[in-house]
Amino acid sequence: MTTIGVLGLQGAFREHVRSIEASGAESVVVKKVEQLENIDGLIIPGGESTTIRRLIDKYGFLEPLRDFGKQGKPIFGTCAGLILLASEIDGSYDVHLGLMDIKVRRNAFGRQRESFEVDLDIEGVAEGYNAVFIRAPYIEGVGESGKVLATYNGHIVAAQQDGYLACSFHPELTEDHRMTAHFVKMVEESKKSLAL
Ligand code: GLN
Repeated sequence: MTTIGVLGLQGAFREHVRSIEASGAESVVVKKVEQLENIDGLIIPGGESTTIRRLIDKYGFLEPLRDFGKQGKPIFGTCAGLILLASEIDGSYDVHLGLMDIKVRRNAFGRQRESFEVDLDIEGVAEGYNAVFIRAPYIEGVGESGKVLATYNGHIVAAQQDGYLACSFHPELTEDHRMTAHFVKMVEESKKSLAL
């Protein structure tokens, strides 16, 4: 069985557990570094990226999370999790994990549009996907080896690069589990190739 962890330091982690299980994998909430050894992939949830970063430092997760990604184990960053994965954050010197070659802008849709829902086409994943955005970032640029999966109003809101998947919206808050199911498939494939 494939097991996917959800980083449970702050934010919407419990809803991800439900979405992973609905997509046919097992899920655990990761609160301790040692738990990373027992999972095949990891979701970093939405919340507040600065708060999650503070807790990552407090509980000694920074290097273990970087090692996890560099071993080839997939990581899916949603909303604040996308900011944590990025190699560049617009207007900030701070970079958190820096694992995925994307440049992001925080709170990018402005104050008037704190939260909204749209139907998105996500390449290779879903058509008419019900996407919920909450104080969402967007991706300003994707590196050469990355692929844009979805845009909204001309802005990139989902991308993939190797084992890294990132989206601006919250795939755990609706009954539409197709984005999570896509990640589950990525993890199953990586598990097979890591076992070779
Ligand atoms: N605005 C938040 C941040 O910058 C992200 C919001 C979210 O995860 N829903 O961390």
